[in-house]
Amino acid sequence: MISDPIELRTTLEKRAYEVWISEIMLQQTRVATVIDYWTRWMAKWPTIHDLAAAKSEDVLAQWSGLGYYSRATRIHEAAKLAVGDPDMKGLLPSSAKDLEAKMPGVGAYTAGAISCIVFGNPSAMVDGNVFRVLSRQLGIHGNVKADKAVIDTIWAAADALVKATSELDGDDGSINTEPNDRSGQWGQALMELGSTICTPNPNCSQCPITSTCRVYKEGELQAKKSKEASPRIPDIEDACTLCEPFEGDLEDSDDDSAQDKKRGKAKKPDAKQSKQATLTAFAFTKKTISSSSSLSSPAAAASTASKETMVAITRYARKFPVKPIKKAVRIEETLVCAIRRGDGQYLIQRRPLKGLLAGLWEFPSKLLEASAKIDKKKREQLSVEYVSGLLHGTKAGKKPKISCKGELGSIDWQFTHIKLTMHVHLFTVGEDAMVTEDDEEQPRQWVVDVAGFESMGTGMRKCWDMVKAEAEEL
Ligand code: SF4
Repeated sequence: MISDPIELRTTLEKRAYEVWISEIMLQQTRVATVIDYWTRWMAKWPTIHDLAAAKSEDVLAQWSGLGYYSRATRIHEAAKLAVGDPDMKGLLPSSAKDLEAKMPGVGAYTAGAISCIVFGNPSAMVDGNVFRVLSRQLGIHGNVKADKAVIDTIWAAADALVKATSELDGDDGSINTEPNDRSGQWGQALMELGSTICTPNPNCSQCPITSTCRVYKEGELQAKKSKEASPRIPDIEDACTLCEPFEGDLEDSDDDSAQDKKRGKAKKPDAKQSKQATLTAFAFTKKTISSSSSLSSPAAAASTASKETMVAITRYARKFPVKPIKKAVRIEETLVCAIRRGDGQYLIQRRPLKGLLAGLWEFPSKLLEASAKIDKKKREQLSVEYVSGLLHGTKAGKKPKISCKGELGSIDWQFTHIKLTMHVHLFTVGEDAMVTEDDEEQPRQWVVDVAGFESMGTGMRKCWDMVKAEAEEL
């Protein structure tokens, strides 16, 4: 416990900065990859003040390879805002609500994580793993990515759980609601469970919280039902519209993709036919631990369920949450034009600050019209027109001499929702070629060392490898 207020403030400021950067890096990127990036980032900018003073070019360069570059831009914006704000002075807000409202790029999950892990507040942090664990614990067969009612219900449950968990019970029976590290440990434990045991293909036989798991119980009943006819007792849950129905026959349906098709008729088994611990029983407070004597160890759960039953349970659990229908991948083609000047310099330009690969540098590129069937000859013609439009003359006021060396090849690059094919063209121009005036949104410059230009995306670097090999022959 730090008693000196100045030391406490410094510690919180540093910790909040570290957790914030790691959480943003971890969005869409694996831990193993992030560790190296995070270590280099902290070595370069040890405090939020250092980051706020950095050049945006350097921030993007440091992010290079992590993808989703708008994350880096927003981190930088947020750092400048937090340092310049007379109230914050570099210390991030402690409440999840303020973090989400005031910090660019900080969503509900990241806000909860910072508030909870750094400041010890009972704030819920619900990432993809926690959505999966809680949808199974609560038995909600819904879409946790798109269905607002489902999302709100799971967040509300997570919120209630973290609040119950963080309450410290005094020896005299009093409840202390001061910030503490239990909420952070709780949130991280749930995420850990989701990433190791309650994975998309869960290992229910090793799960420590089977006794509170609605889906486990329903799966068990499902297995029983296949052996004996069991009359269904209607209850109040029949009035709930949160869950989506299952496709076809529950027992036989082991095809997850079936859920992507039209939703079918089958209903969930009725877990109330059997006594089940409530969800709050797995928030281990003194108040609930005594009533949760039925909480079972993984070994106990595995020993009471036969192998056949366990297979049925995990098969059933895999159906939770509902798999969202995947968005169709967009097919795009672009002309990448490497323009080499007589003095060996290449023209590069910065991409717009919003959208795909925001703020990164690239060879001048032109997106081809979607659905147009354009062959190699036509692509070459279009790239010549494009480059001619970029170079408006020479210093002597003459038309620049442009020589097209042709299409060197094509590189396929996959983004989450886009499959991009980059057709790489090489041009040579005279030493005195000048670039058409650009606007602030898309500055251009001639550079000698393309490889050393760090804020360039990985796909564009592949194009550079192709250009470099050809340019050596010139
Ligand atoms: S019992 Fe199975 S489905 Fe339920 S929380 Fe544990 S691993 Fe997940």
